Amino acid sequence: APLISLRHVSKRFANGTLALNDLSLDIAQGEFVSLLGPSGCGKSTALRIIAGLANASGGKLEWPSASGATPVAEHGAEISFVFQEPTLMPWATVFGNVHLPLKLKGVSRTAARDDVMAALDMVGLAGFADSYPRELSGGMKMRVSIARALVTKPRLLLMDEPFAALDEITRFKLNNDLLHLWSTFGWTVIFVTHSVFESVYLSNRIVVMAARPGRVVEDMTVDAPYPRE
Ligand code: ADP
Ligand code: ADP
Repeated sequence: APLISLRHVSKRFANGTLALNDLSLDIAQGEFVSLLGPSGCGKSTALRIIAGLANASGGKLEWPSASGATPVAEHGAEISFVFQEPTLMPWATVFGNVHLPLKLKGVSRTAARDDVMAALDMVGLAGFADSYPRELSGGMKMRVSIARALVTKPRLLLMDEPFAALDEITRFKLNNDLLHLWSTFGWTVIFVTHSVFESVYLSNRIVVMAARPGRVVEDMTVDAPYPRE
């Protein structure tokens, strides 16, 4: 069974805009899927619905692999979202920022220590645990927010144009880091982008969307021409 399944999902906003129309999509465990399409085609709306940050106006979202009829809201804890802006707390250290999602679950600093340090190690920032966000470059801040998303060991990682605000070289480095992490740990990732390069480079499946109203026009598997290990 797929990890997550969207069935005929539509979204109409209060102002009448039909952002998604009849979107159906199954995503299997371990897939790295890019949602690719021009601005305004409904990529973020689809991601927000999957995350439970917005409700669909029609259709449904299912977690077929979950036992019984578990409400989607209960999967919130198993989903992590990475936004375009790193949204770090400036008053907290790197450690404090990555600890936050565990703290919200009641895990103390001491009990969280190993998991936080492991997440920082994954993104190459173990040596920066005591630094503050203002001391870091843009790319490093983005890596902190990736560590924060991974520290809870989510079943599904949602990324909404995470590298769009970065310069091209940093972006390329982070693409490589993400690809390396994914091929090592094999999470399920849905990655929103309007970059053809990024989608081809990163994903093993590209779902192309078109606007007015948002729908899938192409769904293809990518055979990587290079070794992914
Ligand atoms: P993308 O992520 O592909 O750029 P979005 O999902 O952000 O697209 O937006 C899809 C469409 O829905 C666009 O036409 C956008 O203007 C519209 N839209 C997004 N959010 C809202 C909102 N809160 N109210 C009204 N229209 C919205
Ligand atoms: P990135 O945005 O990918 O981190 P940068 O070019 O900004 O790349 O930084 C290159 C490397 O220099 C970083 O990966 C990091 O190892 C190191 N670095 C950046 N800023 C600092 C800093 N404030 N203190 C120490 N090392 C730093």
